[in-house]
This record gives sequence, C-alpha cells and structure tokens, in this order.
Amino acid sequence: MISLHDAYNQGPEAVREAIRAFGALHPLASGTSGTEPDWATAERHFTHLIEVIMREAIPAQDDAKAIVRRAENEALQLLLALAPVGGYRCPICVMHRRFDL
Ligand SMILES: [Zn+2]
Repeated sequence: MISLHDAYNQGPEAVREAIRAFGALHPLASGTSGTEPDWATAERHFTHLIEVIMREAIPAQDDAKAIVRRAENEALQLLLALAPVGGYRCPICVMHRRFDL
C-alpha cells in the first residue's frame, strides 16, 4: 500500500498541496494553531482511509493488487477533492471520535 510520504514524493504539485492540507488536519498539539502536522497520525489515517475504501467502495475482484491500486487512487482523489473546500475534517478522525477509539 502506498504511504502518504511516497504519494507526496511521487505526486504532482496539486497532490502535494492536498497531502499538506491533510497533514494540517492532524496537528501535533491539538487545539493549537501553527504547529507542525503529526505525520505519523496522518499516515495512519491515510492507510485506514484506503482500507475503508477497499472494504466499502470497491466491488470484489480477483485481482487484489488492482483493488489496492484503485483504493489508493480513490483516497488521493478524495484528498484532492477536499483540499480546496478547506475546514473539512479527516473522515478517519471523525470516525474515531464517533466510536471513541
Ligand atoms: Zn485523521
């Protein structure tokens, strides 16, 4: 599975911007502004997002690699779509809060 870090390094500027925006949703010291992103948490949530997409949104196929690739792509597309919205919340953070994980 692709990491946020790899996607950042491989991606065009629009993808990088979207990843920076996603990272900013996970500040190291929550509740304070202007802190560095907590990339470990952002990375975990990106992986979790891909897993949710694989499980929920992609019809089962024989080719497991194709499913992973498609889910990775969908996750990045989601970040790209959300980045210009601004003020959105990470869906995984929201989910964790709801289930109190
Ligand atoms: Zn999150």
